[in-house]
Amino acid sequence: MLKKFFSPDDFIEEYDFIDIEYMNMHNKKVIISDLDNTLISWDSKRDTKQLTKWLNRMRKAGFDIIVVSNNTEERVKEFCEKLNLQYVAEAKKPLTTGFKKALQKLNRKPEDAIILGDQVLTDIFGAKNLGGAMSVLVKPISKTDAFKTRINRFFERKIIKKLKNRKQFPKMKLRRKIKS
Ligand SMILES: [Mg+2]
Repeated sequence: MLKKFFSPDDFIEEYDFIDIEYMNMHNKKVIISDLDNTLISWDSKRDTKQLTKWLNRMRKAGFDIIVVSNNTEERVKEFCEKLNLQYVAEAKKPLTTGFKKALQKLNRKPEDAIILGDQVLTDIFGAKNLGGAMSVLVKPISKTDAFKTRINRFFERKIIKKLKNRKQFPKMKLRRKIKS
């Protein structure tokens, strides 16, 4: 039960662990990504140079990247327009409507997609609810969280601990040096 809904298919240290090789290995065409603490820190103090580089490399290789975030239209729009990213805001993850909207925009099936995010209770649980997609958990960029997230983290820690005890939680894959 816990494994079925909360154990990610993979666990990575940073979003750019997903590269062209990774996409091809898993036969995926689309990355549906969370925004806060997945691509940028939730208080967005970090510059986006590394992110831009990764986005350009992935898009050039023909992969689609779309943001699905629970954050407000205002915040998500501002960020995504700067980076020329498609997005769905106010997605209400773990509900699946946001993911479905994103797939519709790209004319893709769940099976084509990696769903990437830093929270087990929203991103991973949502991906599992949708079904078909590969769920990838990423270590949160910032150690702090917005208040709402802090409550989720409390339950998340308990779930991860249980899954780890049962050896049902993947080991984190460490970041590789990027060739550019
Ligand atoms: Mg997040």
